Amino acid sequence: MLGLIQDRPLLIQQLIEHAALNHSDTEIVSRTLEGGIHRYTYGDAHLRAKKVAEALLALGIKAGDRIGTLAWNGYRHFELYYGISGMGAVCHTINPRLFPEQIVYIVNHAEDQLLFVDLNLLPVVEKLLPQFKTVRHVVAMTDRAHLPKDLGIPNLLVYEELLADQPGRYDWPVFDERTASSLCYTSGTTGNPKGVLYSHRSTILHAYAAALPDTLNLSARSVVLPVVPMFHVNAWGLPYSAALAGAKLVFPGVALDGASLHELFEQEGVTFTAGVPTVWLALLQHMQANKLKLSTLKYAVIGGSAAPPAMIETFDRDYGVEVLHAWGMTEMSPLGSVNHPKAKHLKLSREELLDVRLKQGRPAFGVEMKIVGDGGKELPRDGKAFGDLMVRGPWVTRGYFKGEGGEIVDQDGWFATGDVATLDPDGYMQITDRSKDVIKSGGEWISSIDLENAAMAHPAVAEAAVIGIHHPKWDERPLLIVHRKPGAKLDKDEMIAFLGIKVAKWWLPDDVQFVEAIPHTATGKILKTRLREDFRDYKLPTG
Ligand code: AMP
Repeated sequence: MLGLIQDRPLLIQQLIEHAALNHSDTEIVSRTLEGGIHRYTYGDAHLRAKKVAEALLALGIKAGDRIGTLAWNGYRHFELYYGISGMGAVCHTINPRLFPEQIVYIVNHAEDQLLFVDLNLLPVVEKLLPQFKTVRHVVAMTDRAHLPKDLGIPNLLVYEELLADQPGRYDWPVFDERTASSLCYTSGTTGNPKGVLYSHRSTILHAYAAALPDTLNLSARSVVLPVVPMFHVNAWGLPYSAALAGAKLVFPGVALDGASLHELFEQEGVTFTAGVPTVWLALLQHMQANKLKLSTLKYAVIGGSAAPPAMIETFDRDYGVEVLHAWGMTEMSPLGSVNHPKAKHLKLSREELLDVRLKQGRPAFGVEMKIVGDGGKELPRDGKAFGDLMVRGPWVTRGYFKGEGGEIVDQDGWFATGDVATLDPDGYMQITDRSKDVIKSGGEWISSIDLENAAMAHPAVAEAAVIGIHHPKWDERPLLIVHRKPGAKLDKDEMIAFLGIKVAKWWLPDDVQFVEAIPHTATGKILKTRLREDFRDYKLPTG
């Protein structure tokens, strides 16, 4: 017998409609590329999202067409999220930090019909345009007055003119909730990037789960500043969850340096922010150097890479900001788990609590997790055994766009994340490594993340990375690569001595190399492939 409850499909356009009806005067604030701050409300954004949909129809866009965006976090990008998906097309966010060849590959693979491009990215598109096979129009996300003069982009359209021509009376269509809504390519370190195609249903379920108290804890009193870009897994879903909760949104535009972020946090009363560790490193350094405080910020989500313990501590101790350590993947929309302590943890000492907080957190309802060892055998949830992390759930992918990569889930729907993790009896998951980064020494595994975290706790270390170097006896041994803070003094012996009180002796790196900078991927992760390349001819010291 079926229940007698309405089967209203879950559609993304309902989020903005809800926000416009119930939070019509809640602000969306953006630092613009033209310069200055732009302010409007959910009511205004809804009207303009409708105009986007009307403009797309006028340009001959049909349901299912892919529309590319090359843009930072700002109000026009937000309107595109809703306007494109809401009319049944697919919002394809493209990471402008990718190599040009990857951008060309992605645009052609997605068969993007239109490209919406932020002002400072127009020159990138101008250069690559001859290689784009399906793009009919490029739309400059600005007004006529700010358009650079001699751009060689034929048929260039101007966003504000497109919208000015529309009545804004569009009725959002109702369709199957499984309809594709947005597309994001993973910046895989091997092979071509692969597209993850989200649906309206997966996006709404993710938005609900993300807003929960033990996930991102969002409400109509939150002021949310996503530092994580809108081209990186939909800014971790924040443009959707914020509308669902009726939270004020603050978009930082292109200025993600410590000074610009700090100013915006204070000016707009930001309570919640989210981004990768490298961004927070810069913010903390800026605040330390200038003796600044944070007067409204309560939560900082750190994800994308492991949150170093020193960073969690500093945010808490010096700034009164609670770090929410989160883990996820493009393939998971992206949220998999977020770290909030349980009631019993509140009795712990500061050090003991930090050990809990270091974990990547508990899965939100909807995400199932297990760890498996050799032969796919499930391993115990004892917080000690570590194995390949598998996930499944209604916002986890079941296959890449156009079938790239073939079958990626097993017959029971489990997706192998490529991460190695432990699970404990309280439900907390802890990543020990990427499966391809784990260092295999004498048949045992050494966690590069643990070593990096330990090194990052040294006050002279700005950033640290560990890679495995071939060793004739042990197979692999760890090499620690350190970027020192400006002006700081630190040598190999002091570094090793510091690590000696934190990790097992056989985990200690065989050598420490100091570098001017640690390379990062387009999404802010340490680029280990490049480090391995840089240290290809390096030999570990003998003896
Ligand atoms: P992406 O799809 O680009 O978001 O990358 C997903 C990958 O980033 C995961 O599979 C992890 O390897 C890594 N990652 C994300 N969050 C964390 C975290 N909190 N700690 C460690 N690794 C993380």
